[in-house]
Amino acid sequence: MDFSRVQLSDDDRAFLEEARAFLAEHVTDDVIRRDRETGDNFDEGVHLALGEAGYLHGEWKSEDEGGFPRVRRRLWELEKRRYHVPWVTMGTTVMVSRAVAAFGSPELRDEVLPKVFSGEARLCLGYTEPEGGSDIATCKTRAVRDGDEWVINGSKMFTTGAHNCQYVFLITNTDPDAQKHKSITMFLVPLDTPGIEIQGIRTVDGDRTNIVYYSDVRVPDRYRLGEVNGGWTVLRGPLDAEHGATATEPDGLQDVAIMMHQGEFMVKACDVAGRVVGTPDANGRKAIDDDSVAYRLGRSVARMEVAVSTPSIFGRVALAQSMRDVAPDLMDILGTASTLPVGTEGAADDGAAEYVYRFAPLVGIYGGTLEVFRNMIAQHVLGLGKPNYSPPKKAS
Ligand SMILES: Cc1cc2nc3c(=O)[nH]c(=O)nc-3n(C[C@H](O)[C@H](O)[C@H](O)COP(=O)(O)OP(=O)(O)OC[C@H]3O[C@@H](n4cnc5c(N)ncnc54)[C@H](O)[C@@H]3O)c2cc1C
Repeated sequence: MDFSRVQLSDDDRAFLEEARAFLAEHVTDDVIRRDRETGDNFDEGVHLALGEAGYLHGEWKSEDEGGFPRVRRRLWELEKRRYHVPWVTMGTTVMVSRAVAAFGSPELRDEVLPKVFSGEARLCLGYTEPEGGSDIATCKTRAVRDGDEWVINGSKMFTTGAHNCQYVFLITNTDPDAQKHKSITMFLVPLDTPGIEIQGIRTVDGDRTNIVYYSDVRVPDRYRLGEVNGGWTVLRGPLDAEHGATATEPDGLQDVAIMMHQGEFMVKACDVAGRVVGTPDANGRKAIDDDSVAYRLGRSVARMEVAVSTPSIFGRVALAQSMRDVAPDLMDILGTASTLPVGTEGAADDGAAEYVYRFAPLVGIYGGTLEVFRNMIAQHVLGLGKPNYSPPKKAS
């Protein structure tokens, strides 16, 4: 890896200024407030403006295809985060639209991709089911062929963003008698198809996700992605991207691990806590002068620094676990007023640690749980073999 300082050209600087001006204009306090109220993590006005200004296109395409060069891509990613652009639907749209580009028919690509770049089409993930999400190959939602159409029945849990999206990337079972990895077919289902019902669910951190019911939903065959029962091949790319298992470039112009965006909330909470405990109270006393406060703050900051420096799949686990460990420690040293959420008068740190406390459990669940990732590390990186969940043998 090359740690030398990146030199920005005049054009890069101009790009950066332009991006900042664009974000300052569009990601207003109103957008942030609305986002907090709805838990949507998406704002249509911002998204359409991003499309119109060419940012979605630049982000999606590689440099060879006319997308952002590496340095600008990095600048753009960091600025987007700094301005708190609602991001979740954008992330799923990019992941799924790559699968549409690779596996969709020319007709489907023409229908969907131009609208992805303009911002009018958003795509979400329909993997998890009420009976289980970790092993998505056990999918029970059925698609049955009827002439040139498919009839879909089932339900999906946690389809985040469905209410703001036009299509869902849906895992279906098309052969219940086959081995599970050979029974899956993928579809890009238009969400305005009759028979689809979207119900909202709010999670403990305030985010909104959905349960989606599919009752006799009829979809033309042109919405199929890849081969019948060949869905696993279509899923591989989006799953690798979501797991953070994609290769990194040697220039270092990217996050060291997926979930860094989430980890930044922990970084901020540590910074704010440090400032609060280092500020004298009315009697001139600072909380940091208490050794136990200094010790716990130091331990939190050390854990946070290790997590944000840990690469790839290990980093993902380190970030989610550290957020769970650090948030209660920070809240303890900040005292009772740290339980007040952001925007509340009297909150010790404007709710920074409290938010991480509520957010951390979810960061260790979505896209795969901490336990599942630890098993993947054990099995695929450390070579420890497949976990054995059979009951222990009885002593004879
Ligand atoms: C906020 C949020 C947003 C989400 N967004 C989406 C979305 O947009 N689309 C979507 O399809 N899904 C989404 N999910 C679902 C998420 O991907 C699943 O919750 C996750 O994969 C775990 O599946 P599960 O909840 O069904 O738990 P289960 O798979 O039922 O697991 C239950 C428990 O068993 C453990 N476990 C399971 N298998 C193993 C194993 N092999 N080894 C060790 N332990 C194991 C798990 O760690 C967990 O503790 C979202 C979830 C949340 C919380």
